[in-house]
Amino acid sequence: MNTKRFQQRLQQKEQDLQAQNAAQSLQKDSLSSRTLAQVQDALRRIADDSYGACTACGKEIEPARLAAVPWTSFCLKDQNRHDDVIRT
Ligand SMILES: [Zn+2]
Repeated sequence: MNTKRFQQRLQQKEQDLQAQNAAQSLQKDSLSSRTLAQVQDALRRIADDSYGACTACGKEIEPARLAAVPWTSFCLKDQNRHDDVIRT
């Protein structure tokens, strides 16, 4: 997989979120700080070459899904399962 373009988008996103977090430093558990953790995790997975694989089932994450949410670590099926767990 060509991860270069994802890496660039993730690094850009990381910078944006860091700026955003600095501006609202009192809200440690804000959505932006959680997303930042996901972005940094995705960058780590690019570095160790596991990017693009679902961290739950190991299958490849749908390319359209990665294009829409490059920092996702779950395939659609596992994301839905994950959301169910959070909801209940
Ligand atoms: Zn999966």
